[in-house]
Amino acid sequence: MSPLAEEIRECRLCAERFAATATAHAPRPVVWFRPGARILIAGQAPGARVHASGRPFTDPSGDRLRDWLGIGEDVFYDLSRVAVVPMAFCFPGYDARNADLPPPPVCRRTWHDRVMAELGEIPLTVLVGGHAHKYHLSARTPVTQTVRAWRDHAPRIFALPHPSWRNTAWLKKNPWFEAELLPVLRARVQEVLND
Ligand code: SF4
Repeated sequence: MSPLAEEIRECRLCAERFAATATAHAPRPVVWFRPGARILIAGQAPGARVHASGRPFTDPSGDRLRDWLGIGEDVFYDLSRVAVVPMAFCFPGYDARNADLPPPPVCRRTWHDRVMAELGEIPLTVLVGGHAHKYHLSARTPVTQTVRAWRDHAPRIFALPHPSWRNTAWLKKNPWFEAELLPVLRARVQEVLND
């Protein structure tokens, strides 16, 4: 693990913020990147299950994301091939409707530019959810519109919705996503892994 990754792992900047949530949890940064990775998964923030496991995407969202990418856990958790850098490294807690709170912006401000500089050029970046669209594409359009315009950024960047169960209805309403985007994404994943 690089000195920067160690530094993030020790970060407790949001301790007060998280202590004030219903779960009153302590920060647990889930840090999963190493220079040289071929694929960057730019996510939102760990959920409660990932907070408990300490590994990214150890939940149904992760299962769906791996299916979208066409890879198994052996590849997904190989740090030499895949980096996972969410817009906040810690579980933010729940809002009043029991949905995950948004990633605290202080995390992006504190860490992201440094992490991206350390990772350098990566042949494939997969943006998972609107917060990642905003940071990596400066997107100002709604998620559906950004994802629909995926050809504008492929093959280096693919903007996806979040793979959460909350988006199952979205997937049904937007069949072009599975029919048109996913086959191209899976082919690109294989291409960069085999390059
Ligand atoms: S979310 Fe980010 S800034 Fe906040 S404690 Fe975790 S690593 Fe630090």
